[in-house]
Amino acid sequence: MKLEEYHKILDSSAFIGGYTPSDEKNYTIPEVTEELKDLKSRILLEKSLEDGNLKIINPKKEYIEETERLAERSGDILRLSKIDKKIIALTLQLKNEQEKVMMITDDYSIQNIMKIIKVPFKAIITEGINEIYQWEKICIGCKKRYPHNYPSTQCEICGSKIIKKKRK
Ligand SMILES: [Zn+2]
Repeated sequence: MKLEEYHKILDSSAFIGGYTPSDEKNYTIPEVTEELKDLKSRILLEKSLEDGNLKIINPKKEYIEETERLAERSGDILRLSKIDKKIIALTLQLKNEQEKVMMITDDYSIQNIMKIIKVPFKAIITEGINEIYQWEKICIGCKKRYPHNYPSTQCEICGSKIIKKKRK
């Protein structure tokens, strides 16, 4: 996988992890630039902008709506922040406009969505996940399964605690 062949979308973890854009095909959203607080990643960001190696784009509304639906379906909705969803929306948009896109992120929930939309990703610090997983809730007492978005933390059958679990 040659990085220079791809249009790369960067989230905050890419900058925090020290990813350095080395060509002009790097993209992020305005919120990521505001989110970066530590000096090292701020310098990296400013240098990338100065060098013309980073473009800041606001994704279109239709892609944000598509992301909401995707997150809902995958069970990642609760784990994705507003910024995460916007970066995914930008990925969907670029995927539609460009030939090859790749996400640079250490965030597992974002990586999970990339698997679903078939966009390759590269992790900086952590290793990427290999499988698509979904979340479900399960009672620790009677083992009854609940959907990932079940609102209560108590089992309706036995009254035990319900925990969130990874499902393959
Ligand atoms: Zn139970």
